[in-house]
Formats: sequence, C-alpha cells, structure tokens
Amino acid sequence: MQPTQRTQRKLNPVKLKAAAVSIHLPKFITIVNLSKLLGVRVEHLTRKMRELGFEHLGNDHVLDFETSGLIATEYNFEPIEDEDEAKDLLPAAVEADMSGFPERPPIVTIMGHVDHGKTTILDYLRKSSIVAGEHGGITQHIGAFSVGLASGKTITFLDTPGHSAFLKMRQRGANITDIVVLVVAADDSIMPQTKEAIKHAKAAGVPMIVAINKVDKPNVDIPRVLSDLAANDIDIEDYGGETQVVRVSGLTGQGIDTLEDAIVTLSEIQDYRAPQQCAAEGWVLESVMKKGRGNVATVLVRRGVLKAGCELVAGTCRARVRSLRDENGKPLKTAGPGHAVEVDGWKTLPEAGDEVLEAKSERAAKDVVEYRESRLRHLREMKDIDVINEKRRAERRQQAEAAEAGAGARAARPEPAADDGPTRLNFIVRSDVSGSAEAIVDAIEALGNDEVHVGVLSAGVGSPTESDVELAHAAGAAVLCFHVKPDKDVVAKAARLKIDLARHTVIYHLIEDVTARLSAELAPIIKTEVVGEAEIRGVFTIMDRGKPKKIAGCRVLNGSIAKSARVRVQTAAGATVFEGAVDTLRHLKAEIAEAKKGSECGLSLKDWEAFDEGMTVQAITETAVKRYL
Ligand code: GDP
Repeated sequence: MQPTQRTQRKLNPVKLKAAAVSIHLPKFITIVNLSKLLGVRVEHLTRKMRELGFEHLGNDHVLDFETSGLIATEYNFEPIEDEDEAKDLLPAAVEADMSGFPERPPIVTIMGHVDHGKTTILDYLRKSSIVAGEHGGITQHIGAFSVGLASGKTITFLDTPGHSAFLKMRQRGANITDIVVLVVAADDSIMPQTKEAIKHAKAAGVPMIVAINKVDKPNVDIPRVLSDLAANDIDIEDYGGETQVVRVSGLTGQGIDTLEDAIVTLSEIQDYRAPQQCAAEGWVLESVMKKGRGNVATVLVRRGVLKAGCELVAGTCRARVRSLRDENGKPLKTAGPGHAVEVDGWKTLPEAGDEVLEAKSERAAKDVVEYRESRLRHLREMKDIDVINEKRRAERRQQAEAAEAGAGARAARPEPAADDGPTRLNFIVRSDVSGSAEAIVDAIEALGNDEVHVGVLSAGVGSPTESDVELAHAAGAAVLCFHVKPDKDVVAKAARLKIDLARHTVIYHLIEDVTARLSAELAPIIKTEVVGEAEIRGVFTIMDRGKPKKIAGCRVLNGSIAKSARVRVQTAAGATVFEGAVDTLRHLKAEIAEAKKGSECGLSLKDWEAFDEGMTVQAITETAVKRYL
C-alpha cells in the first residue's frame, strides 16, 4: 500500500526517492504509532505483521528499529533510523596473505595442572630474560613479558598461568594465544587440569608444546608420562607425531633453552607476521589504577605500532597514550605486534579482554565511545522492552479472561479480579553523578508493595536525551531528573509526547514524588454504607406492556430507598444475590422517587427478579477511599 498524501506530510522529514519514500523511525515505536507513521489502519498493519510471522500482537506492543524498519519496507518505505551519525570503530580486515609483513614474536600461554610448575617455569624464563638484558630493573607483573633469545628472536609469554585467564579471554572473543605450553610434572603425569588444558587448547585450535617438568627429581617415570600423553590424543614427537615434548626443570633451568628453541621452531613453521604500517590494534591484558600514573592498562599489540600520542579506544574507554613501559618499568618509544606494554593515559579503566583500536583523532575516539555507550544503553533498554511487552500481553490476557467471566455472570456482583500481579510503574533515571543514580535506583526500587512497584528502565549519568523520551513514550514511563536539566529539544519532545520530566534536587523529594505516583496506582478501598433497608413481604406479578413482571412488595425498615439508589438484595442468611439498580418504585399506583422508613412500596429491579419473600433490599452508597503507601 502506498502512503497517503496526508501521511507523507506527517513524515518528518521525508525525502522522495525514485522507488521508495524514506521514513525516519525512532529507536522504539508502538504498533499503533507505526501505523500512524505509515499511514495505514492499525488492523491492516497487524494483519500484515501476522502474515510476516509476528505473534502476540497488541497495539501497544513496542517494536525496535530493526523490526519496524522491516515492516516499513513492506509498505515500500525506506527506513532510516533517527540517530546520530557516529559510527563504531572496527578492526581492520585481516589480510589473506601475511607473507609480505614483518615477523612478530609468538604469544605463548603456559597451562597445566596445579603445582606442576607453571609459575616456576615462568619465573625462570623471566629471570633469564632480565639477566640476558641490560636494564636489570625490578620485574613487575603486567600480564605478559618478552624473552629475547641469543638468536635475536623474541618470545612473548602471558604471565597469568592457569586456565581461567585463557578462558576469560576466549569468552570475550580474544583468541590471543599462538602457542600453548602444556606443563606436566614428571612425577605426577596427567591430572584433571592437564586434561582440561588439552581440551581448551584443542577447542581454540592452538598448537601445543609439552613441557615435562621436574625432571630433576629422582625416580621420575618419563615413559609413563609419554604414554599418558598419547592416551590423551596428543600426537607426541616421541611416538612419531608432531607435538614437541621437552624435558625441563623450572627449578634448575635444565631444558628451558630447549623449550625456547621448540617455541621458536614452531613459530617458524606457523610464520607469525603482522603489518606495522597501519592503525594499531591489540587487546587489554590487565588494567589497574596506579598511584601517580592514573589508569594504566597492559596492551598486547596485534598489529600496527603503539606510540605516545596515539588515540586509543577499548570498549567504552579511551586514551591518548602518554607513555609506554615494558615489564621492567623501562619507558619505550614504540611497541609493535606481539609485544605487551603498559599504556597510561586512559580516561577510565578498560577491562581485560577488551579490544584496543587506534582512532584517527581525539574527536573520532570520543565519537566512538559515545556511540558505544548509547548502543549499550539501547541494548539494556531493549531488554526492558521485552519485559514491558510481556507484561502488556499478560494484561491483555487477563482483561480478556475477565471480560469472558463478566459476560456469564451479570447478576452477581463481580468478584474482585483474581491476582492481576503487581502494577509496574516505569521510570528512567538521569542524574549528575553515577553514585546518585545508583542511590536513587536502590531507593525507589525498594518502594511499593505487592500491588504496585517500580521498574527502572534505564539509569545513568547526564541529562535525559530524546531517545530517553522515546523510550518513556513507548514504555509509558516517567523520567526522573536529579540535578540535571533536560535541554530545550528534549523538553519540547517530552511535551509533545506528554512525557513527564520530573526534576528534583533533593533525593527525599524525589522519593516522595515516586511514592505519591505509586500510591495513585493503588486501588482505592471501596467503603459500602447501607442507607436504607426494606424487607420483601410479598412477591406479585403484574403485566407490563404485555409481559409478566415481578414486583417485590416491601416495607422500609430503616433509612430510605431512593429510585436512583444502588441496591443489593440479601437472603435471610445474609448472602448477597443481586447488586444493581432499581427499575420501578411505586407507592400504590403512584411512581415515587423515594420510599422512607415505615412506608410500603413496590419495587422491581433492573434485569433481575429472582427475589423472594423474606429477602432484604438494601440501598447502599459506595465511596472510594484513597490509599497511601
Ligand atoms: P603451578 O601451580 O603450576 O604454578 O606450580 P608452581 O610453579 O607453584 O610449583 C609448585 C611446586 O613445585 C613448587 O613447590 C615448586 O618449587 C615445585 N617445582 C616447580 N618446578 C619444579 C621443578 O622443575 N623441579 C622441582 N623439584 N620442583 C619444582
């Protein structure tokens, strides 16, 4: 269906293209609002969506841009997301042929069962590198260290032994290890964590070298270790396979040079290379706040060359590199692929496993961080949108059930709806500092009871944005602003969408405000008062417009019964059998407005005449009494 002229005017802004009309869609939109934008009837839209395979559709169902855009294309629109132009920074595509690039050191992780000597071997390697080098500084743990060999080759070891570091990196998508050295103690052979390490290395597709450690110990049974390795699917060299096995002692240093040679041999076969004339890329290995140096992160360079002044982005953190240092605290001018360096200049602390990418400029780095932050927020909001949609579906189901139940039982007073579940009042919290945002969320989430409670869709630092207002609109939320002032555009949008931007500067007042909103949601207590009571003394039938009609002949015992009154009929045992309105009220033949105490009257009821002698007709008033939390 083509959009109507009217709709085209409503689209904002609309560019006419040869094939399709472009349409700007917000990040979130309800089905009913989308139908307005598209200029189609909502029934038509939901039918179309069903055809497209969507289920559980209510008009207030919230769609994200991906979904609404897909639907818009069905109506021959070209969807455009209403959002900033900022784009993410992505790593460079990996070249298929690396042979023209310079070699880089291999990155080695040492794994194996506890107490088999991983740390001892790493210590030995590190010490030998210090002795070999000239700096003689105090080695510190920065997550990795490089060993320069006499041959001029370098090997970089990750110095957090064990599997969790390796796994954590892999889980975060950082497959940073080139080679796994599997340490097996000669006196213990293969143990559970050895098997686990084999599994991890194989799953990551990383080649392995086995270091049989503690060979200095007397009476060790190396042939047994070899056969155990083979039994665990390692095609060891000793049995004609490809996996190198070296015998070492981390304690005495015996065989460590052979281990280094084995690593170099394997690296030559694997031929590790990386481009250097490109934007720097790498991973964060560790990060820490250091006194006097601020936020410091160890970056393992993957490609390119890091130097002071580089603008880096890692996750939602960024840095202008101030200085680079190696594991000995020695300042470096540059760090190329396969090297790990401590980088300072981070505005906030990135996380281990974060991918580090160099941006072209500070502006570009800032834009990327902003974009990523908004994307993260968007994702969090989407999760909430799912919750909201599920809740709305549940509400509709309950309403449908209640309507069905109501249709079958008109006469009896409707039972209070069974457990409807608590009402959720949604809020978006924006505050000046993150501490207060958290405090507000904690405080308001604690409010409420089993009938009504607070749902925080999103909380964070900074003034509310137009996207916040859109989310509030889609989810029926209010925006709580604490010590932040929404800008003009946001205020205007909120006014247009009738979104409440509640501004507060005192937490106590904000909490009071939320409490009042919650209280307003509490169903009032209905106080019923009997203002008149009449006893049915006889039932007789008259002809009313050709039809028989039952009249209750009553005597008013207390108060009065007005014709306009709401009445209920109770049996002698006190059970209410009807509640509703009076149809006719007469004294003798005359219609009256009210029958007072002591008088007699004949009355009929609207749509009900199963009354009997001995029942009581009561005139009641119902007052709603407001409740407070
Ligand atoms: P990790 O848990 O794998 O890091 O094991 P450690 O490096 O902490 O070593 C565990 C114990 O084994 C320590 O008491 C080490 O001194 C000892 N050890 C490590 N390597 C050797 C070795 O080559 N020979 C001997 N005799 N003991 C070793």
